[in-house]
Order: sequence, then structure tokens, then C-alpha cells
Amino acid sequence: MGNDQLEELRDQLDNVNLQLVELINERARLAQEIGRVKSAQGLNRFDPVRERKMLDLIAANNRGPFETSTLQHIFKQIFKASLELQEDDHRKALLVSRKKHPDNTIVKVNQETVGDGKQRLIAGPCSVESYEQVEEVAKALKKQGVKFLRGGAFKPRTSPYDFQGLGEEGLKILKDVGQKYNLAVISEIVSPHDIEMALQYVDVIQIGARNMQNFELLKAAGSVDKPVLLKRGLSATIEEFINAAEYIHSKGNGNIMLCERGIRTYEKATRNTLDISAVPILKQETHLPVWVDVTHSTGRRDLLLPTAKAALAIGADGVMAEVHPDPAVALSDSAQQMDIPQFEEFITNLADSGLYNKENVAITK
Ligand code: PEP
Ligand code: MN
Repeated sequence: MGNDQLEELRDQLDNVNLQLVELINERARLAQEIGRVKSAQGLNRFDPVRERKMLDLIAANNRGPFETSTLQHIFKQIFKASLELQEDDHRKALLVSRKKHPDNTIVKVNQETVGDGKQRLIAGPCSVESYEQVEEVAKALKKQGVKFLRGGAFKPRTSPYDFQGLGEEGLKILKDVGQKYNLAVISEIVSPHDIEMALQYVDVIQIGARNMQNFELLKAAGSVDKPVLLKRGLSATIEEFINAAEYIHSKGNGNIMLCERGIRTYEKATRNTLDISAVPILKQETHLPVWVDVTHSTGRRDLLLPTAKAALAIGADGVMAEVHPDPAVALSDSAQQMDIPQFEEFITNLADSGLYNKENVAITK
């Protein structure tokens, strides 16, 4: 008899649960609809005044046995879940998301491609210092089959008294050397006002870590027809990184490549902490090519090869590393750049590992 009663009560409870599921989903549908109306009107989805009114209405109508504070706690969770549901809808719709565009984006840079399964390298000095310096590196790249030459002309330095770069003159050097050796050139632009000027010199606009959330710069880079290499901010979450890419895409330029370059943590053994798991996350969440900058993430020459191997093994489309003819006298990042023999050894070891092909034929992982 007792057992029958228990079963009966349990049946009733199951029934109520099912009704709650119906009701809670009905509520979610209404919240989504409200979200769409608000979005069309440009209104913020989160509305604390409205939430307060709903909680007051619940309090005024509560006849127990739950305490009002308990109900309010439960409803707060429901409000939060509804808000997240609306955000999820939004995330699904991001132009850079894989949900929106399942196929890999293949970025064309001159006659080269990135994101099609070939492992690539970007190499070059931290800063452009002179024509001869860049040319010496370019010769080494050419010899090793590397197609992308980097060099900083506008350097966003931590101290205003450090070398700030040669500016437009540096871009001109890069372009001249790039043309002479048939290399695609990449350089960082730090101001939205310089984007137009840079178009005549560079093949890829780099947006550096310190500018990942410089929204005017992102919008300016998004408004031109030139591939963009976007580096992850010093303390940016992956979500913030993806949204920064979305800023560029939203202005019309979909030729975006992401670059993990280490994030700031408490660890002091390396300059930054290379967030290696960001690579597969970015590959899953977005359709964009993903690079790993082993120089700025580690700040240590002895870690360039193992981290480059890790990057390629985990699915990065390419690796960026700094190379200088004489790092000891470099005007920036002198401790971490490779000299030319070290670079040749680096690339040989990388090729020997089977993770990188000097001829840039896709390696099946
Ligand atoms: C760079 O690549 O030259 C550079 C300054 O790196 P980051 O913006 O990642 O610090
Ligand atoms: Mn550097």
C-alpha cells in the first residue's frame, strides 16, 4: 500500500517535471523572441530593472511552501540561462565561426596560400633596422624555401624611450626586399590612419597583441582588401580574440589569420605562457587559419624548436619566429631572435621531425 502511494506520488512528480520542462522551454522561446525584438531596436539584452520587476511579481504571488528568497534564487538562474541562450544564438551567427562557415578559410597572400593544410613559416627580424639587415634575412629565407618575411616598422614598445621603428621608411625597405626575393611581406600597423598608407607596401597587415582591442584599428583593417594577421592580446580570452576577428570581418574583410602569441600568467620561466590548447580551440570555433608565434610566446631561443613542433603537431597552419643577422646588436628583442645559422638549424630540425615540409607540400597528420 505504502509502495503504491510512493509510486503514485512519483508519477505525479514526473508529470510536474514534464510540465516544468514545457514551461521553461516556452519561457526560453519567449525570451529569445524578446531578444530579437530588443536587438532590432538596438536595446541591451540584460535589463536589471525588468528583472527586479519579475522578482517582485514572484514575491507578491508566492504562497509557499518555498521561501521567496529560494524562488528568487531559482528564477535568477532561469534569467541567466535565458540570457546565455540569446548570447549562444548570437555566437552561432558570428561571421568568423565555424558554425556559420564550416569550410576552412584559405587566405591567399600573393601567390601563396595559408590554411589549406600546408605548414607555413613566417620569419624575419623583430624590427626593420636597415635594407642590408632585412636583405640578409631574406636571402636565408629564400634559401630555405620560406615564403613570408616579417619585420616591424611601427614598434609598439612598452617604454616610449625604446626604439619605435623606422615607420614608413621601414615598410619601404620590406617591400623592396620582398620584391627582390619574391617574398610576401608582413608588418604591424598600429594606427587606423596608417592602414591606407600601408597598402602600397605590405602583403599582410599585422595587428599586434597590444592592439587586439583597438577597435578603430580593427575596423580600419576590416575596411580594406588586404589579408590581416591578428595577434592575441596579452591577457585576452579566446572569446575576446574571436570577437576582435569578428570586428575585422564585420567590416567586409574576411581574409583574417589568427596568431596565438602567448598570454600573461604568473609564470616567469617564459616571457609569456604559450596557450597551446588555444590552437585546436580556435580551429574548432572558427574557420580561420591559426599561426603560433614561438618567439614572443616563449622569449627563449632554446624553446623555439620544441614549441614550433608542438604548434604544428596540434594543428597550427604555421609558425612565426624572429630571425636577425646579429641578434646581439638588434634594436629590439635581442635575447630571443635566432641568428641565421640557428635559423637554418631550426628549420632543418623542424623538417626532420616530419612536421614541416620545406617544399610546403601538405603533411597528413
Ligand atoms: C611582433 O610580432 O612584432 C610583436 C610585437 O608581437 P606581439 O604584438 O605579439 O607582442
Ligand atoms: Mn619582437
